[in-house]
Amino acid sequence: MSLIVTGTIGIDTVHAPTGSAEKVLGGSCAYFAAAASHLAPVRVVGAVGGDWPAAHREQLTTFRGVDLEGLEVRPKSSTFAWGGRYFDNMNRRETLFTHLGVLEEAPPKVPASYRDSRFVFLANTHPAVQLDLLRQFPSRQLAVADTMDLWINIAREDLLKLFKELDGVVVNDQEATQLTERTNAISAAREIVKLGPSFVVVKKGEHGAILVHKDGTAALPAFPADERHVVDPTGAGDSFAGGMMGWLAGTGRTDFHSIQTGLAWGTVMASFTIEKFSLDRLATIDRHQLDQRMHQFRSAARIA
Ligand code: AMP
Repeated sequence: MSLIVTGTIGIDTVHAPTGSAEKVLGGSCAYFAAAASHLAPVRVVGAVGGDWPAAHREQLTTFRGVDLEGLEVRPKSSTFAWGGRYFDNMNRRETLFTHLGVLEEAPPKVPASYRDSRFVFLANTHPAVQLDLLRQFPSRQLAVADTMDLWINIAREDLLKLFKELDGVVVNDQEATQLTERTNAISAAREIVKLGPSFVVVKKGEHGAILVHKDGTAALPAFPADERHVVDPTGAGDSFAGGMMGWLAGTGRTDFHSIQTGLAWGTVMASFTIEKFSLDRLATIDRHQLDQRMHQFRSAARIA
């Protein structure tokens, strides 16, 4: 089934205890698309400026399932750029700068050939843009969105409008608390469901993820990664969403148990992303490695 993603294509600068990466390919849309492309073809709707490095385009085109027809280049504009720094245990990070660039302009256009998309993921960007884009997919079967602290702070009203039209929301535990003032992830997710979506996924980093759905509740552990393998957690959340939506679009299913399996694929995908900076690890995995890690994950979570 056709999967579409819209969000940021960014130039990231990351400082971590493991090293630094300057001006590398990043952005919510890039991580999502790269991860999803291992499970289903994915169409990209986004915009970059004239300063977008040719090497970043080349890197994105190495993901064979990623369709870049909907990627607009605006020669006079500048690309979204983000800088972040991780603290010692890699669980906490601070944003050093956010340069909105093209995000302050008109939203990217959806090519006519994308209008029939059935699975829609609105990766992190301004919620008014997410809503505008959502309405351009009349045949959608499943629409899911992500958000983050910046948008909860500066565009809450737009976010609440968006939630009314969504099937699903993916947030991390801090965002869930920020949205609902509930510190317990399950209670926070139940509050978010009251705002419109049929299901909410709350990501809890190294503590896994929970799914609150109108048909049930599920909890999933994180992949038991050795901290020596964690190089850069940037994009873990977007890769998680890419794995989940890639699995759903690949199977064409949207029921509770399929979403639960989707969460496991998301977890596996994120576990690869964090092993290298930028999209470097996602670029080298193959289906065999994915299946192997899924098998390891299934064994680790098995309850006799
Ligand atoms: P994650 O680590 O999954 O939260 O996502 C990190 C990615 O999100 C980075 O590659 C950034 O370029 C991108 N990003 C950071 N801030 C924003 C924002 N406010 N809106 C959209 N994307 C963002």
